[in-house]
Amino acid sequence: MEMDESFDIAVIGAGPAGSAAAWSAAAAGRNVCLLERNEKPGFPVRCGEGIGIRSLTEHSDARPEWIKREITGSVMVAPDGTKVTIADIDKSTILDRERMDYDLSQEAVKAGAQLFVNTPVIEVIRIPGGRYQCRCPQRTVIAKIVIIADGVESRIGRALGWNTCLAPDDIESCAFTRVTSPLIDQDSCVFFVGSGVAPGGYAWIFPRGNEEANVGLGILGTHCAAGKPGKLLQEFINRQLPGCRAGALHCGGVPVTRYIRPLVRDGAMLVGDAARQVNCISGAGIAYSLFAGKIAGGAAAEAIRADGVHYQALTKYEKLWKQRYGKQQERSFALKDFVIHHTDDAFLNRIAATLVKKKSGRIGYLTVFLSTFSRHPLLMFKAFKLFG
Ligand SMILES: Cc1cc2nc3c(=O)[nH]c(=O)nc-3n(C[C@H](O)[C@H](O)[C@H](O)COP(=O)(O)OP(=O)(O)OC[C@H]3O[C@@H](n4cnc5c(N)ncnc54)[C@H](O)[C@@H]3O)c2cc1C
Repeated sequence: MEMDESFDIAVIGAGPAGSAAAWSAAAAGRNVCLLERNEKPGFPVRCGEGIGIRSLTEHSDARPEWIKREITGSVMVAPDGTKVTIADIDKSTILDRERMDYDLSQEAVKAGAQLFVNTPVIEVIRIPGGRYQCRCPQRTVIAKIVIIADGVESRIGRALGWNTCLAPDDIESCAFTRVTSPLIDQDSCVFFVGSGVAPGGYAWIFPRGNEEANVGLGILGTHCAAGKPGKLLQEFINRQLPGCRAGALHCGGVPVTRYIRPLVRDGAMLVGDAARQVNCISGAGIAYSLFAGKIAGGAAAEAIRADGVHYQALTKYEKLWKQRYGKQQERSFALKDFVIHHTDDAFLNRIAATLVKKKSGRIGYLTVFLSTFSRHPLLMFKAFKLFG
């Protein structure tokens, strides 16, 4: 049996949130380990890989190799098949997440963090003196602060006292695959809405170049049954991309709820999907995770003092998160709630019909919002409360 290894900070999970946290804590001179259960950070990929360029470059030193495809617009397809083309204000890209996640973990290593792969954390317990013991099959790690970035299920967060259970209307159950077909529009992300396609969610086709795309759908937990996302995805692919070559089918969950409060307890911090730091309308979480990881690692590094951990200093993480994304996430949550409870296929068809009649060339997101709001008095009222 090896001796316990001691670190200032242990980060659990080498996704975008964990690698960003390990990088920022190590770059600030702390002794950091990054514990990842898989053999290679970034693999297997469970993601549509879409992100706005502005968000990506704001929260990371993005490399050209991470970008598989630059996207010039989006197309929304209504339940009755009406297509609305929307100009992207913030240009989007489709990432190579396998490459990006791996590079981020290596950036943390370059900054001085020790990365342990094939290292699932089985248990974390608080030991006398207030430190944390992370137990893995091959090693036991002791740390003054633990940053939990273990993704949507967050078993470790739950074991340390956070309620990480998700109500059925707070999770999108997703099925997705990679597809090759000449029918794929390689310049636009295409979103399909409607109860027949993806009840309480949407289906997507995100192009990756070379006739390839990530294709998937998410349905709200309240509409889900065993095997349903996979079955709906198969039907969707047969309809939209007949004759395509499809890879293996994967499943995964996206939390669509408010971030967990508090984000910090004693010397433990929750980041990324584990903390539900996701846009509740789109399900996008990469940018939020990169940002949350960076500020959590920074706060943890600052909190370590010669005489121990200054727990109050850790709460700076929650303040910074709230300042940057608190309101934005709250709005996305309220909109998701509204869409679920007050819209139906007929309403979505009417909005699409209004938008395609607009003669002003390409439609922007503002036009979509205004058209939607003006057609629904209750939504208008909510909008004043949210954005006013
Ligand atoms: C189908 C699908 C499509 C998506 N599409 C998009 C998209 O297009 N754009 C977007 O912005 N977001 C998308 N998301 C969301 C995005 O993938 C997440 O928000 C993001 O990956 C969260 O990063 P994270 O670091 O918090 O968690 P993860 O990326 O889930 O990383 C968690 C890491 O922790 C490791 N781990 C877990 N448990 C342990 C343990 N006990 N010990 C050690 N290691 C452990 C895992 O192996 C993993 O490496 C999608 C999600 C899904 C499911």
